[in-house]
Order: sequence, then C-alpha cells, then structure tokens
Amino acid sequence: MESNKVRLRFAPSPTGPLHMGGVRTALYSYLFAKQHGGDFILRIEDTDQNRFVPGAEQYIIDALNWCGIIPNEGVGFGDGKHAPYRQSERKPLYKQYAEQLIGSGHAYYAFDTAADMEIKRKQAESTGKSFMYDAQTRMQMQNSLSQPASEVNNLLNNNTPYVIRLKVMPDNEVAFDDLVRGHVVFNTNIVDDKVLLKSDGMPTYHLAHIVDDYLMQITHAVRGEEWLPSAPAHILIYKYLGWESKMPHYAHLPLLLKPDGHGKLSKRDGDRLGFPVFPLNWTDPITAEISSGYRERGYLPQAFVNMLALLGWNSGTTQELFTMPQLINAFSFKHIHKAGAKFDPEKAKWFNEQYVRALPDATLVDHLRNDVIESYKYSGDDVRLTDSYLIKAVQLLKPRIQFLHDMHSMGHYLFEPPQTYDTDALQKKWNENQFAFYDVLLPQLNTQQSFDATVIEPLVKNLIKEMGLKMGDVISCLRIFISGKSSGVDLFGMITLLGKTETTQRINNGLQFIKTNN
Ligand code: GLU
Repeated sequence: MESNKVRLRFAPSPTGPLHMGGVRTALYSYLFAKQHGGDFILRIEDTDQNRFVPGAEQYIIDALNWCGIIPNEGVGFGDGKHAPYRQSERKPLYKQYAEQLIGSGHAYYAFDTAADMEIKRKQAESTGKSFMYDAQTRMQMQNSLSQPASEVNNLLNNNTPYVIRLKVMPDNEVAFDDLVRGHVVFNTNIVDDKVLLKSDGMPTYHLAHIVDDYLMQITHAVRGEEWLPSAPAHILIYKYLGWESKMPHYAHLPLLLKPDGHGKLSKRDGDRLGFPVFPLNWTDPITAEISSGYRERGYLPQAFVNMLALLGWNSGTTQELFTMPQLINAFSFKHIHKAGAKFDPEKAKWFNEQYVRALPDATLVDHLRNDVIESYKYSGDDVRLTDSYLIKAVQLLKPRIQFLHDMHSMGHYLFEPPQTYDTDALQKKWNENQFAFYDVLLPQLNTQQSFDATVIEPLVKNLIKEMGLKMGDVISCLRIFISGKSSGVDLFGMITLLGKTETTQRINNGLQFIKTNN
C-alpha cells in the first residue's frame, strides 16, 4: 500500500558545500529507504534567504550523484508527486498551518522589533542569563497574548511586521523514541516559543520541515544531533496540528569528531591536517578559495561511501568492506553508536587502497596511460604506452598504491630515467669495490638473451656473493641507479620491464654520476 511506503528525505540547506557529515546523513537515509523498498527524496531547505549560497544546491546534487546516493524524487532528480521540493517554492503553503495553530490557541502573533528583542537580551545577560521567549516572559512582550484583541487587530490591519510563535505549555513532559538514542524525555520548560513563520512570510525550519515531512509522507527523519534540543518543540507542533500519528520516526545522528576526538570535525581540521571534509572540490563564490574534495584527491566514490558508512555504524560483525548493495542489506539504526565518531584520515586512505587495488588491471592501465601521456607527451607508438608494458608496470605498482595517481607519481622511473639520485643513501651504501662488480656485470648483462627476472636476479646475486660484496649495499646502489630512489617496486621486476638497453644505460649513468660527484 502506497501510504505504508517507507519514505526518507535528505533535507540540506544550501548554505555552502555539503560536509561529509551531511553526506553520511544522506547515506543512512538512502540505505534505510532502499532496504525497505522505499523512496529517498532530496528536499532543499532554502527558507533562510540570508544564508543562501549560490552554487550550493548544484553542489549537493553533484555530490549525491558522485556518491551513488541517488534520490527517487527531489530537486535535480525528477519531480515526484510532491513537487516542488525546494521550500522557497512552497512558501504559500506554510502560512495556513501557522494560522491553524493560532486558531487552536497553540501559536500567537508577536510584534516585537529587533530592537525590543535586543533590549530583553541585554537585560537578561546583565543578570547572567540568556533570554528565552517562553511562558515566563511572553506576557512582557508585544504579542497577541499580551495585548488586547483590539490592539492586535489594529497592528495586523496596519501591516505591522509580525512573526508567528509556537505557544509552548510549561511544566509538561514531551517524550519520543529516537531510533538512535532510544526513549528521550524533555520538560517543556526548556523549550522556547519558537518562531514558526518569519516576518517575510517564510517559515522557519521548525514549521517547514514538519509541514513538508507530513505532506511528503515521510516515515523516518534522519538528521544531525544538533537538532535534538529542538525535537520537543517539533513533537509539540505535530501534536498541536493533529498529526501525531503521522509523525516520522526521528533518528538523531551523533557528530563526526576531529581525529583527536575533541570536538566537531570542521573544514579547518582538514586544512590543518591535510584531508578533505567535502566530497567534491568547492570554490567559494565570494573569495574564489578552493576547498579540496575527496573526488579530486583521488578517492573512489565506493571507498568514500564505505568509509563514511562505518563512521559511527557497524554491521555487528568485524566486516569492514561493503559494496552499496551490501550496505543496504546490513544497515540498521540499532548499530549506530551513540557517541560521536572519530574521523581517522589514515583509515580513509586504507579504504581507498582496498578499492583501488581491487580494480581490474585494465582500468588501472587506462588510468596510468592517461597520466603518462599527459606528463611525457610520448607518441602513440612508444613502447611505454603499450598494453603489455603498462600491464607489467601496473602489476609492479599495484601492491604499493593507495590512489590511482600514485601509480604515476610513485612509478615515474618506469617511464623516464631518474632525474636525481638519493645521494644520502648512495653515500652510505656505495664503496669503490662496486666498480669492479659492474665491470663484470655489465658485459654479462649485454650478452643476455633473456632479460627475465628469473635469469637476472640469480645472475646479479651470485656475482655479488662471488665477489664477496655486501648484498644489501650493492642491491641498494643498483636500485638507486635504476630508479633514483632507495625504495620502490620490486627491483628485478623493474629491470625486466625496462629491458636490457634501458637498464645498462641507467647503470652507466649512475656510475658516471658517482665518478663525477666523488
Ligand atoms: N535543513 C536542515 C539542515 O540542513 C535539515 C535537518 C533535517 O534533516 O531535518 O540541518
């Protein structure tokens, strides 16, 4: 039956780029919806015109697309029967519900100016308190409860700006069952008379999300725990509108924490510690400053999503690698942790490593070929661009990479001779006796028919032994001659790939370098 269908929404405000915490909220909503054959909806909550940031909405859409968290309905994803999905386009809808609440005595007009409010705030602060518009204070304010009806009518007839506020009854208890936190009870004395409709006729989040969740038949509302303190007001609004039985199940997600666990993960932590907090690059429309995203840093969307899913949730097993269908199958609110989830940038890389290394060789080859063409401008028939060369390069590099671009940045010596040598390591490992070793080795290499590792490795190692040289030292210097570096891919695999001419050439260059620099 349509009315029983599980429906979840992701309801971001377009106030900037989507933070990874926001993507996680979207992901959990998506997983639960899909698990139950339900719908996942993207609603844009843009009622706060002051905080609107151009480009943010498109960014949200692009980010969800990249992650593969695809809504069935919503802004940018095709209109369902509840369109429009942008709250600013639904503006005329909300006022009637605010007025319904006035009619039933659960809301009131408030005419206080910003200056009036400021005075009250200052007064409260001078006694060390913060001002709360509530049952205690509302009768000292300018509103339809404190003023005679005739005065209220006058004000309304003269188009005096007003807001509509929720009238919260004091000394009551509000309780609900949160999908993450279990049974939660609040006393209404801590709930203020929230503004429901602003003086520009726009609803606040408090009213708008309730009206929309109700009209859009949302069954579960997943959001950040910063909304938990407002939840009792929301429960009251449902009750006062007579929609209590249609209230969605709320799930308040714990925060994503900084890597040290102290406080909420922010863009500044990413900048300081060198990791992104946004899924995609974001260019600030005012400052043109670019914040880097997971996509541009070389993360695969599947790895990003997998990592995010496990930030604050587990399947109840030790399994860490999940495809999207596996996540859909395994997800449950029951296994979301109540405490904040510490973000670990190294673990994020680990996830990427698993996914990158599991890619088919052909995909890695394509990627590497593009990088090589871009860097070296080799022509199409260059041997280093052939499948057979690149596939061997990929096999050598694969056990060492965490990102696709690592293949090229780590393995550049497979595509060009070393431009510099690790001179510190050379100084430590080189001694004059090694000249004699190369005097014997080079002619032997030159006469080799097969340049396979199975031939070259024993040849080199036996010669080192025969000459009574130190295996580690000679091998290290040979590696530096070939690659410029003291560590890297398998040495004899590299020699095989480079072939006789390139290998002997590089050894000669290395020996020349030693001679001229000693
Ligand atoms: N617009 C709200 C936000 O961005 C949505 C919270 C909710 O999902 O209800 O925080």
